Amino acid sequence: MFDTLQDRLNAAFKSLRGKGRLSEADIDATCREIRIALLEADVNLSVVKEFVAAVKERTLGAELSGALNPTQQIVKIVDEELVTILGGETRTIRWAKKPPTVIMLAGLQGAGKTTLAGKLGRWLREQGHSPLLVAADLQRPNAVKQLQVVGEQAGVHVYAPEPGNGVGDPVLVARRAMYHASQKLYDVIVVDTAGRLGIDAELMQQAAKIKAEVRPNETLFVVDAMIGQDAVNTAKAFAEGVGFDGVVLTKLDGDARGGAALSIAKVTGRPIMFASNGEKLGDFDVFHPDRMASRILG
Ligand code: GDP
Repeated sequence: MFDTLQDRLNAAFKSLRGKGRLSEADIDATCREIRIALLEADVNLSVVKEFVAAVKERTLGAELSGALNPTQQIVKIVDEELVTILGGETRTIRWAKKPPTVIMLAGLQGAGKTTLAGKLGRWLREQGHSPLLVAADLQRPNAVKQLQVVGEQAGVHVYAPEPGNGVGDPVLVARRAMYHASQKLYDVIVVDTAGRLGIDAELMQQAAKIKAEVRPNETLFVVDAMIGQDAVNTAKAFAEGVGFDGVVLTKLDGDARGGAALSIAKVTGRPIMFASNGEKLGDFDVFHPDRMASRILG
């Protein structure tokens, strides 16, 4: 993952090794290389500009601490700035004061929402919760069945529409699911919603209606990291059309470049809360900006 970026950044730092003191020209040259590395990784241009400006300003102004040589100092600054663009502090779910906590998933078709519902379900169960997955994706013919399958694998109950409980109308399904959950002792409800192949007004309206119905504590925008810069554009459309509190990056295992991961928190102003890195239910974890920055720097 992100191998080229890692190699590029390390090459930029390597050319500084052995220098006792960094001149402004050294810093400029390094910043140029960092800029190219980030652009090649498909990071959003405005994020790259801000990032490089911050690294340059901080490096020029850095008091050389006795413990670190100039190269270590610049690596430390790059590390800290990576953490910043990745969202800063780790952010986990804000639980409802009075259960259930409602989590709604939104995103394009194929982003990995249904798979994620299973992963979240399993993770929640492992954290001692009692989750219910709700199949409100009635667009894709197989989505309900798929959620039932992942729910079973995760050992988590699934609420699915059936004759009499709102077939065809996802808002009604969501309403009935909330009622069902209130009758049982579920403390977290994860609502899977429909996605289209592209952004469209009807999809946004449907997701917005479900959101108004279930009033989620967390609306998570689920996005395939492999689509790079397009993730940023899709995120902007969902931010306007539905609104969301956090991002889940999926398919990080197949993302060789890192553009989406490094752009999305900064561009949307919303934290990356979880990351998926494989098709199996266990290929999933809370997203830690500091760990990701360390991995990028190798
Ligand atoms: P949805 O349309 O948003 O509900 O997407 P799905 O959950 O059906 O996922 C679409 C495809 O992506 C499926 O084949 C999943 O197995 C696959 N997938 C989901 N998450 C990941 C991931 O983190 N890594 C990989 N490699 N594949 C994933």
